[in-house]
Amino acid sequence: MNKKGQLIVVSGPSGVGKGTMLREYVKGRESVRYSVSATTRAPRPGEENGKDYYFLTKEEFLNRVEQGNILEYAQYNGNFYGTPKDMVEQALAQGQDIILEIDVQGALQVKEKSPGALLVFIMPPSGEELRQRLIGRQTEDEATINKRLAIAQEEMAQVQEYQYVVVNDNLDQAVAQFSHIVEANRSLVTNWLSENKSEYGFGPGAKPLK
Ligand code: 5GP
Repeated sequence: MNKKGQLIVVSGPSGVGKGTMLREYVKGRESVRYSVSATTRAPRPGEENGKDYYFLTKEEFLNRVEQGNILEYAQYNGNFYGTPKDMVEQALAQGQDIILEIDVQGALQVKEKSPGALLVFIMPPSGEELRQRLIGRQTEDEATINKRLAIAQEEMAQVQEYQYVVVNDNLDQAVAQFSHIVEANRSLVTNWLSENKSEYGFGPGAKPLK
């Protein structure tokens, strides 16, 4: 029987290392896809169009929103970020899990539209550690870092909107914990029932056992 894909939303402050953690998690897992977002922000050194983001002009972005091709979107630090709808729908239809790495505003939109989505928040071990990680990245000036820290604090205060939290102190442990959460969610009775009901002789389309 076809496994049903899970819509997994992951948020966390910029610099928390969620991208690294998720890339590690996705490695070698054929049944998971990572959604590539569209954004109007400029590429950082080393970022590739179509791989890290689809880099669009503001006009291109808003056109896609108007055409209904964006599942959710938000403005973050002066730029637009959004999830292309087709990739998500395709993955779920093929029984693959799909991970959206999006900000809190976007996560709340998905939560409302898809109540079955799994929402996970990635936390740094501490505020000071987050500051050090952002400084260490050296891709932004101090004013931008301070702006991102202020946004980070606001985002972390909304952790109660999520179902699970992973504190990213050690990469391997964080990946393992994330993996346990995804598997546990698959076994939630409501999720399990949605794909197994007919196997046990109850629910729509089920045959009596004898
Ligand atoms: P960054 O500029 O550091 O790549 O991303 C900034 C923020 O935008 C991060 O919190 C990231 O999770 C969020 N983000 C990236 N893609 C999307 C998206 O498609 N939708 C929303 N709502 N947020 C996104």
